[in-house]
Amino acid sequence: KPQSADIVVIGAGGAGMSAAIEAAQKGATNVVILEKMPITGGNSVRATGGLNASETQYQKRDGIEDSNELFYQDTMKGGKNLNDPELVRTLVENSASAVDWVNSIGGDLSVVGQFGGASVKRIHRPSDTSAVGPMLVKTLNAKLDELGVPVLLETKATKIFADKDGKITGVEAEDDNGVFVINTKVVVLATGGFGANPQMVAKYAPQLEGFITTNHVGATGDGIEMATELGAGLTDIEQIQTHPTVNPDTATMYTEGVRGNGAILVNDDGKRFVNELDTRDVVSAAIMAQQNGESWLVFDTAVRESLSAIEKYINEGIIVEANSIEELAQKTGVNEANFVATMQEYAAMQAVGKDSEFGRKSMEVPLTKPPYFAGKAKPAVHHTMGGVKINKETQVLKEDGSVIPGFFAAGEVVGGVHGANRLGGNAVTDIVVFGRIAGDSANKYVLDNG
Ligand code: ADP
Repeated sequence: KPQSADIVVIGAGGAGMSAAIEAAQKGATNVVILEKMPITGGNSVRATGGLNASETQYQKRDGIEDSNELFYQDTMKGGKNLNDPELVRTLVENSASAVDWVNSIGGDLSVVGQFGGASVKRIHRPSDTSAVGPMLVKTLNAKLDELGVPVLLETKATKIFADKDGKITGVEAEDDNGVFVINTKVVVLATGGFGANPQMVAKYAPQLEGFITTNHVGATGDGIEMATELGAGLTDIEQIQTHPTVNPDTATMYTEGVRGNGAILVNDDGKRFVNELDTRDVVSAAIMAQQNGESWLVFDTAVRESLSAIEKYINEGIIVEANSIEELAQKTGVNEANFVATMQEYAAMQAVGKDSEFGRKSMEVPLTKPPYFAGKAKPAVHHTMGGVKINKETQVLKEDGSVIPGFFAAGEVVGGVHGANRLGGNAVTDIVVFGRIAGDSANKYVLDNG
């Protein structure tokens, strides 16, 4: 257990590990990471999309025309212009080097694809079938090991100390053997979000009371509490992204593509209740208004065959399968007569291309190809976009904009990057870009103030 360190990083998710590696690569020799869970990775390891980046060598290779300006515009538009423009500029301008950096330390982000909210192909993914999160976390773990940066697992930071001038002086932490203090002048806060803290979610976003979550259990907002105790300001703290269709028992997210490719939502009464392709917030609210706040995501074999992700849900055992709608009603407990009528009406509306009930614009298939499928679905808290206020050097700021010396933050614990709505693929960019900047800034601070 170290009694002192040059830099203490709190949290071993994508942001914290990137920060520690960057600091060590820049020459810092006494860096330590505290991680409260028994494993590293936090929410980062759950990322399935990829890393959005513009003006990359891989886009060039594929003949994709993109620019930092276009990436900036897409991100601001996605975030309903609530984003901090300076942080978004920093995000996009460092995105291409984030891809190269991940690859330089042994990662694999070399395939470019299309994703929601992006004007061009911009999301960078592994070249095999592995998901981006596990690839990234494995790469970061290995690099930390190689650099000899210690990661203290099951060690929870509980308090950050500052002197009377507000400068950082140490961190209090707790492990199996009790409470201890590490003296340090520099802290990088990378504790992630608070999506797994229902009280905190309800406090800042009362409309999300009772929502389940897609987050790992450690996403409890500890960093927000420790930072505000030191006088840090918060940005957009009430901005929380939900995902409308998550299995209530396993917290498995059904990708939006299931509805996009034709699935509908039906309640226990056997009726549709919303335009399934409306925005995430509208669909989420409609589901919450049903009995139990739950619904059924219903599709047929045509939809199943259009989307490989569906096989994963079926293999997980969370999808009910039946040869007729009557049988599907019996297996799910949905009102049989209404369910049969709903499916007939839907097929008829699909045939004429007009959803006269809810105004759904695209009805891909009539949902008449057996066998039929249904998965329980309800909305869940997904990403907390608000958090600690920082500047583009990742210095933590007080409400009045002044700096807390020696205090840096990056990743989901920070607010301002994503505004009112995060685009898929921007969280991974966020943690690598701002994690690296935090590591660099922390190292510079040590050199200047050591
Ligand atoms: P990000 O994407 O910003 O890196 P993650 O959720 O991936 O966020 O990682 C944050 C990490 O911080 C998680 O592994 C989480 O367990 C850890 N963490 C949260 N609070 C504390 C704390 N008080 N002390 C130590 N580690 C913490």
